[in-house]
Amino acid sequence: MRNRILGLAAAGVAVFAAMSAEAAEVNVYSYRQPFLVEPLFKAFTDKTGVAVNVVFAKKGLIERLKSEGAASPADLIFTVDIGRLHDAMKAGVVEPVKTSALAANIPASLRDPDGNWYGLTTRARLFFVSRDRVPEGSIKTYEQLTDPKWKGRICTRSGKHVYMIALTASMIAHHGKEKAEAWLAGLKDNLARRPQGNDRAQVKAIHAGECDISIGNHYYYQKMLDDPKQKPWAESVRVVFPNQDGRGAHVNISGASLVKGAPNRDNAIALLEFLSSKEGQGLYANVNGEYPVSTDVKGPDMLAAFKADTLSLARVAALREEAGRMADRVDYDG
Ligand code: FE
Repeated sequence: MRNRILGLAAAGVAVFAAMSAEAAEVNVYSYRQPFLVEPLFKAFTDKTGVAVNVVFAKKGLIERLKSEGAASPADLIFTVDIGRLHDAMKAGVVEPVKTSALAANIPASLRDPDGNWYGLTTRARLFFVSRDRVPEGSIKTYEQLTDPKWKGRICTRSGKHVYMIALTASMIAHHGKEKAEAWLAGLKDNLARRPQGNDRAQVKAIHAGECDISIGNHYYYQKMLDDPKQKPWAESVRVVFPNQDGRGAHVNISGASLVKGAPNRDNAIALLEFLSSKEGQGLYANVNGEYPVSTDVKGPDMLAAFKADTLSLARVAALREEAGRMADRVDYDG
């Protein structure tokens, strides 16, 4: 008798789950481009029956969440860089969530300790160096960027860009404010030109002979190789993962946060868990040539496996403002 009641109860749960899955949806606001996330959302829908509706935008999503307030249909926000995840948190549009699956799937350094944001892929900030003019092994660490032998030979984008801010924040975390500031000033002293352009523009400058070393995110290497116009730029450089004999290369994330008051909260959490699972990670990391956050999943074939810095990105986030002021103090962009 007891078994029968349990059996009925279990059947009832199954029917309810199937019914709610039919009507189920989750609404995503995404700064990530459609080609990056659509294959993943499709895999999630195929598996769970939960539809994923996405609003794509290049900017303004945090402002939109703010103005929509409690009426917002959004459940999750997807973006790149700890800086932007941190900004969404500071804007008060996200809410913390914690589950055992998220904690098990995502290394602690790549998620907020309070559950306000979760990293879903990582990107290494590495060196692109001239094949012809920079001998193998002659630059191995971020610290060596200040070596006088590179005077007038380094190109970077603005010191105020989120990618550079995070790197500077990591230098503060590892070396303290004073040494980090000396480092940033030393790097500035070695620049071949005023900071300008994006990560790819620096490689273009190496190809043009304007400089010999640049700092950029790893995935641009493959993107340039895949673009006929940019292929020669990529072919003029070697990729160097910094600090491999020490703490590892600085990494950043793409990630997601649960929106405050998410109307489809359970489905949103299910999607986050799927993306962090072995299956989701295998799909996600490979569409953009990014690295999985999951240590169980292999990274892109185009670049070697590398040692990543395990510094908490929450710590990097906390030091961002200081890093920005530092860039101003050393007049990095000046
Ligand atoms: Fe990028």
